[in-house]
Amino acid sequence: MEIPFLELKSQYQAIREEIEQVIGSVFNSGRFVGGESVRAFESAFANKCGVKYAISCGNATDGLFMAMKSMGIGKGDEVLVPAMTWISDSAMVSLCGAKPVFVDVEEDFFCIHPKDMASKITKKTKAVLIVHLYGQTAQMDELRELTHLQQIGIIEDCAQAHFAEFDGKKAGSFGQTGVFSFYPSKTMGAYGDAGCVITQHSDMADFIRKFANHGAEHKNDHLFEGINSRMDSLQAAVLLVKMNHIDRWIAKKNVIAQWYKEQLQEVADISLPQIRSKARHTFHIFAIRCKQRDELKEFLAKNGIQTEIHYPKALPFLKPYHHLKHKESDFPIAARLEKELLSLPIYPELTRSQVSYLCDKIKLFYLG
Ligand SMILES: *Cc1c(COP(=O)(O)O)cnc(C)c1O
Repeated sequence: MEIPFLELKSQYQAIREEIEQVIGSVFNSGRFVGGESVRAFESAFANKCGVKYAISCGNATDGLFMAMKSMGIGKGDEVLVPAMTWISDSAMVSLCGAKPVFVDVEEDFFCIHPKDMASKITKKTKAVLIVHLYGQTAQMDELRELTHLQQIGIIEDCAQAHFAEFDGKKAGSFGQTGVFSFYPSKTMGAYGDAGCVITQHSDMADFIRKFANHGAEHKNDHLFEGINSRMDSLQAAVLLVKMNHIDRWIAKKNVIAQWYKEQLQEVADISLPQIRSKARHTFHIFAIRCKQRDELKEFLAKNGIQTEIHYPKALPFLKPYHHLKHKESDFPIAARLEKELLSLPIYPELTRSQVSYLCDKIKLFYLG
């Protein structure tokens, strides 16, 4: 049996008629950037996230950059960043002219560790980048209390947490800004790059909309220097179609997560993802912690099963941050996780027999 890590073709086949219809109307409109479909998507997305504004952009990396710009983050500022995430977070802090300060992550849920975060706050700390890793939100009660007390801003990286919830509120609606990626492999993916920033603040929304369009509201009327980061009309039309299916797909992923749990519970050498109290997990990634991770990965590959590692190196240990001279003991949890985490395939089209085959191979590896 062959089990790819991700398989996007079956999803397309299932919604093909709807997609072809909207692609046809975008092509016939003759408008390929912005326009009607982009406006409709922004309003539907803001609505579903429970916020006032959604500003579309080219990708989440640009979105993070613009979100921080809109909050006035720049030279002399420090921004707290979890040690275990994608490099966009720390890289965009640096490109804003500020300094990323790394924080260790939680043992059980892998998001930013509130206690370690508290210990890293200085007079220069302007904001924290809260990453809702793998489809589950961070500990928002503790983090909100802490940021409120210390008067620091929150940027939420929701690239992996579309429609995840904490205490009934959607990811992205807690901070000043929330940033989403619609890269094809994400929980809700376009057919190319796309992203967006959500906010409740009209001044930030206004700034980001102009910043993403060369600092202009109207052509040639440049109010300040900005960048070009806009959403294609085609991607917006595709995303609007997918919004009608996304809740069902997320529910199915929760069912698959349950299949994994039932079948892998007995394996003492691995620990399964846990659900935080008050949280709605969307299982963007199903990451287990395991002994002999690299050997298991290779064994599964030999049996036709593709897995991934998110992430093989914690950010502080990557080359761009060598100058900070961090040691493994600075981030003991992240340092362990990079050796133990393994992401198993999880997508709505995965069948029960595929999951059983996969779990049997894991049991064979550990239990013989
Ligand atoms: C994918 C991802 C990003 C970057 O998104 P792009 O749209 O590819 O720029 C940022 N942060 C996290 C946590 C991600 O998973």
